[in-house]
Amino acid sequence: MSHILILGGTTEASALARALAEGSKRAVLSYAGRTEKPRAQPVPVRVGGFGGIGGLVDYLRREGVTHLVDATHPFAATMSRHAVAAAREAGVAHIMLTRPGWVEASGDSWTHVPDIAGAVGALEGHARRVMLALGRMHVDAFAAQPQHHYLLRFVDVPDEAPGLPQHHLVVDRGPFTVEGDMALMQAHRIELVVSKNAGGSGAEAKLIAARKLGLPILMIDRPPCPAAQVTHDIAGVLEWLGHSAERGV
Ligand code: NAP
Repeated sequence: MSHILILGGTTEASALARALAEGSKRAVLSYAGRTEKPRAQPVPVRVGGFGGIGGLVDYLRREGVTHLVDATHPFAATMSRHAVAAAREAGVAHIMLTRPGWVEASGDSWTHVPDIAGAVGALEGHARRVMLALGRMHVDAFAAQPQHHYLLRFVDVPDEAPGLPQHHLVVDRGPFTVEGDMALMQAHRIELVVSKNAGGSGAEAKLIAARKLGLPILMIDRPPCPAAQVTHDIAGVLEWLGHSAERGV
């Protein structure tokens, strides 16, 4: 019987876990452990890093994993690299489930930067009111541009206050709406939005809100994706698993 390890931390991973549970497939969902209270899941969950490529190879062998689905966030580049290498070494089938990136639409005003450091550098200059829609991991890097007032939105209350001299923190794990994000941006008189090109619909509201308000976006492009088989939807994973026919999807 196949045994599937899903590398998660995304809505896609949770949706895949649901689909596999409904199909009575043996699957485990893995979290890095960055979020305090991840949502309840219909398959067993494990939490924490594996200990690099070697640790993941050991896990795959020990647990008898036959299929590895990397459904991590497109910016979780280290985990994705490790997954490709470990699957190869352990002889386990591997696929990436990832959302397509967002593309600039009419009415958008995006400036592209390659990474967080690029975004920090691009904020050189006069003080502005900036929405940092990045999650908590990389926020402290923006302390290098302390002249701005930053609006932050995290899914959990952080253990330590963000290291930014002028900021306002909103704790909310969504789902977010265009109207809600427009109201938030207006209430905080936001002049610029900094976003990662995460893709997907869950986090898209802020982009549409910025478009409607005529606000520019500093868009952090995705890190390079390792050479691997990729699908953008759950059905693609099920097909790959060879279960599409019996599930009727
Ligand atoms: P990363 O930089 O690629 O990974 C750093 C280390 O964290 C990995 O080497 C691995 O540790 C551990 N790790 C990452 N994902 C894991 C998983 N699903 N299960 C077990 N261990 C995992 O990853 P990241 O950017 O810190 O992201 C961490 C988690 O947050 C991921 O699950 C990702 O899907 C989620 N997430 C990330 C972002 C983002 O913008 N980066 C946004 C939303 C959600 P070991 O080397 O010890 O195995």
